[in-house]
Amino acid sequence: MKSGWVDRDAEAIVADGAKAGIDPDLSLRIYTTRLLGRDPKLVLHGGGNTSLKTTMRDPLGAEVEVLRVKASGADMASIELAGFPALRLEPMQALRALETIGDEELVGIERANLIDARAPNPSVEVMLHAFLPHKFIDHTHATAVLSVVDQPRGEQICAEVFGDRMAFVPYLLPGFGLAKKAIEVFEHSPGCECLILSKHGLVTFGETAREAYERMIAFVSRAEDFIARSRKSVMAAQPARRPPPVADVAPIVRGVCSEKDEKAEGAWRRLVLEFRTGNAILDFLNGKDLRRLSEAGVITPDHTIRTKNWPLLLNAPESERMGEFARSAREKAQEFTMRYRDYFARNNKRAGGNKRALDPLPRLTLVPGLGLFGLGRTRGDAVIAADIAEAWIECLTDAEAIGRFESISEADMFDCEYWPLEQAKLGARNEPPLTGQVAAITGAGGAIGAATAKCFAAAGAEVALLDVDRAAAREQADAIGGDALALSCDVTDGGSVSAAFAKIAEHFGGADIVVSNAGAAWQGRIGEIDEDILHKSFELNFYGHQRVAQAAVRIMRAQGTGGCLLFNISKQAVNPGPNFGPYGIPKAAALALMRQYALDYGADGIRANAVNADRIRSGLLTPQMIASRAKARGVSEKDYMAGNLLGREVTAEDVAQAFLHQALALKTTADVTTVDGGNIAAAMR
Ligand SMILES: [Zn+2]
Repeated sequence: MKSGWVDRDAEAIVADGAKAGIDPDLSLRIYTTRLLGRDPKLVLHGGGNTSLKTTMRDPLGAEVEVLRVKASGADMASIELAGFPALRLEPMQALRALETIGDEELVGIERANLIDARAPNPSVEVMLHAFLPHKFIDHTHATAVLSVVDQPRGEQICAEVFGDRMAFVPYLLPGFGLAKKAIEVFEHSPGCECLILSKHGLVTFGETAREAYERMIAFVSRAEDFIARSRKSVMAAQPARRPPPVADVAPIVRGVCSEKDEKAEGAWRRLVLEFRTGNAILDFLNGKDLRRLSEAGVITPDHTIRTKNWPLLLNAPESERMGEFARSAREKAQEFTMRYRDYFARNNKRAGGNKRALDPLPRLTLVPGLGLFGLGRTRGDAVIAADIAEAWIECLTDAEAIGRFESISEADMFDCEYWPLEQAKLGARNEPPLTGQVAAITGAGGAIGAATAKCFAAAGAEVALLDVDRAAAREQADAIGGDALALSCDVTDGGSVSAAFAKIAEHFGGADIVVSNAGAAWQGRIGEIDEDILHKSFELNFYGHQRVAQAAVRIMRAQGTGGCLLFNISKQAVNPGPNFGPYGIPKAAALALMRQYALDYGADGIRANAVNADRIRSGLLTPQMIASRAKARGVSEKDYMAGNLLGREVTAEDVAQAFLHQALALKTTADVTTVDGGNIAAAMR
């Protein structure tokens, strides 16, 4: 591992900081924190922290000694000054006199000693930084160091690798106790340049930002060199049979890694998936020790809040025997959740019985021959779980190459998983109603599709925006931001629909809600219409819905957690307009299609509903059309658009709200919701 320090960059950040009144030490603290944070072999998703002891003026103008420490959960790669709350140093150091202190009390004292009361909470490892005397302190969970220390003989191996420049701190739960132990160990080896925290990570320190940072690089490099030197060849990969496509496996995995939500009949608690594969992952998954290693536990305690302590290990799937794979996956997932509940009950009893159980679903699933899935309530969480899983595999592979991997005990993992300060990193979750669900919307580049995608994303769903015009879908997905996915999909082409749904399954793990919205209008008097035009309209306005629904139902049935098909059928399906036959007739057939899906798949928990909307500004009703129709009726454009019983113009957002309502109404199927401001001729009867 090479130092990322560049004099020019360091000088630039110091010069920029000076303009904003930031002193050079603090600027360089920010600089080396970013250097550490940008290397996933050192720091992953909030798993590391740094500090600086300095002075500043408090609000009354008095100069005080402070500890600037990384805020809890802050991203080191992009950290700014605001990510380093300042605490009065002396009262924090005085806490060393205490034997022990409760978590809430400690957080209270920390907050009371913030120079700026609005600052974020300091890192959960703040006391380690407060007690050690050094000006600059860097702490990471570097993968290579974990491979060396996560061993039954971890202390001896570390002595061999790092020599007497290192002092060894036995495992304790991160927090106050560990901080006290660390300073005690340091005081016994005052010349050391690094503390190895058993089965957790390492701490380096220095008089300058560069010294602390480059010591970190030097110690991690020593661990890397040792691994490279001592490697014996293990985990030889077996040649795997050709696995089935990820798009076929993912919905099965997603389905078995979900559970019925007891709060409402028909509701499910679902997760979103992130798939990873590659040589390192496949070598690990095809290795002979996979079963033992899959049970071996986390590489550093704070990973347990992201991946749980162990993964769900499935059998290798085979294309011709997917039914068998699905059955065994379900059994193994059930064993996993039962085991998690037992683990919780056993440890909660030991810990005093006042913890609240987290959901028992896996956050990492291993599929031999194929790859791994990170799982999370959002796609962002799934990506974090997958990143941590890759580091876990790298660490275990290297640990086994030089010895035998050993994690902390089950009780220690539980204490970390259910430590309130770790849970706080995940943030107070007030989840929107569609959290964990995946919604695909066709015609998402147009007005109604775009409004629906936006509305579903705001309700917590992961959204895939499909449109024949990919650029239009991309533009709307970008406007939504986050993890919105844009895909090109021509619903008149079966291959294009299958490919789009395969991509959705690969990207999110499956689909739960499909809004079949793509459509276009053709006109003509029915007795004189060219048959080609009727065919064209049927291809898009009827078969398009059928292709999309069929692809969606295939995924939904593989998941086994129900689902929801929503169709845009337009007023024409119910109340035909003169010369609109080529549009209205396939739309009427689409209404029948919706009812048929409701009938045929109700027993699978798949609901089918439709929205009958009219007179929405869109690609089907352009400003020119509005102008000419208003003129033909002798009314203003405004009165034309609001020409309904309520006298209100209906918007794409109103249609989106109707789709959302149908998605949330778990006891409603074969329903048509009318969104037209009131038109008795188009009312359902
Ligand atoms: Zn740590």
